[in-house]
Amino acid sequence: MTHIQQPATQLIDRFNRIINYVRLSVTDRCDLRCVYCMSEDMKFLPRAEILSLEEIQFIAATFVELGVTKLRVTGGEPLVRHGIINLLNNLGHLTGLNELVITTNGTHLESMAEKIHDAGVKRINISLDTLKPDRFRTITRIGDIDQVWRGIETASKQDFKKIKINSVILKHRNHDEVVDLVNFAIDHGFDISFIEEMPLGIVNQHNRAEAYYSSDDILADLKSSFNLIPTTESTGGPSVYHKVAGSNTKIGLISPHSHNFCGSCNRVRLTVEGRLLLCLGNEHSVDLKHVIRQYPGDSKQLKHAIISSLAIKPEQHEFTVTDQPVIFRHMSVTGG
Ligand code: SAM
Ligand code: SF4
Repeated sequence: MTHIQQPATQLIDRFNRIINYVRLSVTDRCDLRCVYCMSEDMKFLPRAEILSLEEIQFIAATFVELGVTKLRVTGGEPLVRHGIINLLNNLGHLTGLNELVITTNGTHLESMAEKIHDAGVKRINISLDTLKPDRFRTITRIGDIDQVWRGIETASKQDFKKIKINSVILKHRNHDEVVDLVNFAIDHGFDISFIEEMPLGIVNQHNRAEAYYSSDDILADLKSSFNLIPTTESTGGPSVYHKVAGSNTKIGLISPHSHNFCGSCNRVRLTVEGRLLLCLGNEHSVDLKHVIRQYPGDSKQLKHAIISSLAIKPEQHEFTVTDQPVIFRHMSVTGG
């Protein structure tokens, strides 16, 4: 029998949730402008306001010393940040870390997938909402799907433990593609997660309430084409999983609106400007950049700030289905 070694220290919040997963946003910039994520005329943060790669690494390493075992590098588009491979390499070597994962839009995977793998990234999430080139262009405003196909192909040739596709589903934009997207995942041996759009930041291309397509609707659509076996598997996160019978593919449904997932929340997020966000759907946060710039290299001060921050981790998010943003920061700043 294998025993999972418990870390000496653990971060536990006031609702007895163990926090062992941190998502790091390494940039708010991106080479795409997805309609649900960004407005057309995004203003990006000046360099002085964002964490340096060394600062990100210091904060990540301190979290690992506090018992965090999983790090996800995200953004914005993490692969547009200069020096990202170096950061991944350094994070991949942290003692005590079990899993280093990354979320990307796939546009840079053709040239970077091998380096990402060699840096120690075990699993990779690639966002893809449609298989149709014209729709891809419309949803991302500027993207070229061929670039992503080439990236996916290169990533498939690396020995990643798993590749997962993330698809945000919007009514009348791509809801009719859920079966095709699952077939795509099955053909490639990928997993796939469908995500309900969350009301983060002001977007100007669609009315979020009208575009709402629930996970239950998606599940009903899928059941007419696939034999789905519910699993009890949990990553401590928001996904409910189904296995597609006769395949290696799992389908995750991420339902911030229709099924609240906060009871088992095991994560916090570090924004690109160094705010520790205790909840995706609330503004409770602590300014870790201030702490590390006031006390450079002092991990005791940083640990104290992190441990104290758990006192304000809310019990649950406050998302509702509405055309108005509930949270005024965009997902690209937050780190999706
Ligand atoms: N650029 C990378 C990408 O697209 O995969 C990583 C960052 S992106 C913010 C992370 C994930 O958040 C993507 O899968 C994206 O589809 C999702 N996302 C962005 N805005 C969202 C929103 N308003 N609601 C739900 N998911 C969103
Ligand atoms: Fe960029 Fe990812 Fe946001 Fe799309 S979802 S605009 S790819 S950060």
